[in-house]
Amino acid sequence: MIKVKKDLSKIPDCLKNGGAYNCEDVKTELKKVYNKKCCYCETKLTKNYAIEHFRPKQDYEWLEKSWSNLLLVCNSCNSSKGKRFETENTRLISEIVNIEVHESAEYLNQEEGQLLFHPEYDNPEEYFKFEKSGKILSNNKDDKRADYTIKLVKLNHIDLVESRYEIIENFIKEINNQVDVKNIISNFAKKNMPDYEFSAYRKYIVKNHLSEIIKDNIVIN
Ligand SMILES: [Zn+2]
Repeated sequence: MIKVKKDLSKIPDCLKNGGAYNCEDVKTELKKVYNKKCCYCETKLTKNYAIEHFRPKQDYEWLEKSWSNLLLVCNSCNSSKGKRFETENTRLISEIVNIEVHESAEYLNQEEGQLLFHPEYDNPEEYFKFEKSGKILSNNKDDKRADYTIKLVKLNHIDLVESRYEIIENFIKEINNQVDVKNIISNFAKKNMPDYEFSAYRKYIVKNHLSEIIKDNIVIN
């Protein structure tokens, strides 16, 4: 999971004109914001994705077409989450919220205290850490938001853990097979930009585990 920046003043035309929440304008804009990746698990999205209502449209009908409530999600996270959305405080209804609907997320987050991590407002480094194995963990003991998010969208699903760990496996293979190890290491360290799949994991590994991985795997001839 990474933090992204969405320009709330750049409302896609179809939303302004009363079109559907999943129209082409929304998809195009969200792909730019989310680097064509799932907002929760960071897998690269091809054809299998959906427009996510952070606050479920079943319970927050008034936010169905709110630009600030629309995210980009893979089918797997989307079906794991379903319409679940727990809050620490009472949920707000449109009648008492005196704020422009396309800019409502930050206010709602503060007032409702939702348990789910919000990739446009929360800082992932505060909440999550990774094992080398590809497993994601809460950064602090008993962190409700981190634990809830990991469980809800199944961030430790075996397929995801294995896909993350593959990054390390491939890196180890490369440093064992190639002559220019220095170059491989520096290239690996650069691949934590937001458009790379699992960039949060990559970033964490480079910062916390890379020297140990190199030390354990480098073959000296
Ligand atoms: Zn996902």
